Amino acid sequence: MQSDVIVIGGGLIGCSIAIELAKKGLKVSVFERSSQLMKEASWAAAGMLAPQSELSAITPMFLLCQKSLQLYQNFVNELEETTKLDCAYRREGFLQLAFDEESAKNLDKNMAWQIQAGLRTEKLTHDDVKKLSPNISDKVSNSYYLRDEHQIDNRKLTNSILAMAEILEVRFFLGSQVTEICVEQNKILGIIANGERHFAAKVVNAAGSWASLLSLPKYFLPDVKPVRGQMLALKTDVGVLEHTLHFGTTYLVPRRDGKIVIGSTTEHVGYDKRVTAQGLEHLLSQAQKIVPKLAEACFLEAWAGFRPATLDLLPILGEHPQLPGLIFATGHYRNGILLTPVTSSLITNLIITGQESDMLTAFSPTRFISTAKAS
Ligand SMILES: Cc1cc2nc3c(=O)[nH]c(=O)nc-3n(C[C@H](O)[C@H](O)[C@H](O)COP(=O)(O)OP(=O)(O)OC[C@H]3O[C@@H](n4cnc5c(N)ncnc54)[C@H](O)[C@@H]3O)c2cc1C
Repeated sequence: MQSDVIVIGGGLIGCSIAIELAKKGLKVSVFERSSQLMKEASWAAAGMLAPQSELSAITPMFLLCQKSLQLYQNFVNELEETTKLDCAYRREGFLQLAFDEESAKNLDKNMAWQIQAGLRTEKLTHDDVKKLSPNISDKVSNSYYLRDEHQIDNRKLTNSILAMAEILEVRFFLGSQVTEICVEQNKILGIIANGERHFAAKVVNAAGSWASLLSLPKYFLPDVKPVRGQMLALKTDVGVLEHTLHFGTTYLVPRRDGKIVIGSTTEHVGYDKRVTAQGLEHLLSQAQKIVPKLAEACFLEAWAGFRPATLDLLPILGEHPQLPGLIFATGHYRNGILLTPVTSSLITNLIITGQESDMLTAFSPTRFISTAKAS
């Protein structure tokens, strides 16, 4: 079967690229190994859209994240208008918190670069914090308000993206594990999924944490490894929290219906998706330290997912240097929900025009694929 573009991986990155290409009139096929779309990292995430909280300097990665955040409102508006499905995009901002002297000092240090860079970062008094978010523990010793950090209900977003893909007639092949990318004389021919050949001159590798497991005979694929994150959700009354709260490696992300998503661990355990007693105990105790009232909340669910991590923890975005037509959009690690609008826009532009935006330079696969390894 012939397509203009084949996308490997039915997560948020693959599906959002597919819809942008379909909007331009291209025939796009998405191959997903599982029987359901969007059930890996894109489902497991917390949905924080937080360049300031996630990064520690003005780097190309920060600028890419910031650009994506700027695109978010329009990205969501278009999805919601077309599909009539709410994505629950929230712009209340984040509170960065500390609860002892050492973490208070660290927080001041962490915020210094943002203040220097002129990013909106407000140091709060104890009273300010309690006014903004009365259920935060009285023991809070330092806090900053980051007004420009947002969040989205990533599971709702995935539903809206899939509805959009259906409207745009993107073709989905479920239960179709791509095992090989087919090449002849340095030309992309398509893929093999479940032993069957499918043809396209352009193939996008958006297979998340599995992106380097595909066979690409004689050519080098960059390394992408899974980093497990355990999460849980509690149910409280609506309005117990309005802002996303961050303390050390723990975050509390309030949804509109009173659900609070709490994360996360960072574990190098391969493709082991188990949720552990230790992981949950850590998250629950930290969450109650931040908001003691959560001791009364109902437990809803716990889960784990894999962040797709490259060797330098930056995404891989762009064309294979020895194989024009093979495009990477993977390795989004902790920021794939945030980076969805900018990734889909820049990769679509690359496919349509053949021109690589300057924003992609720092994320090119060439940084891993040495020409010496060419056949
Ligand atoms: C616990 C946790 C919390 C996170 N929190 C945030 C957050 O708050 N904000 C944020 O921006 N990001 C967050 N992330 C990161 C974000 O979820 C990921 O970066 C993003 O979802 C990656 O999307 P993806 O489409 O590349 O990967 P995935 O969603 O994992 O999709 C990849 C898809 O490819 C399919 N696939 C793999 N191999 C093949 C094959 N050979 N053939 C066919 N299909 C294949 C898989 O089955 C899967 O469906 C979090 C991640 C985790 C795990």
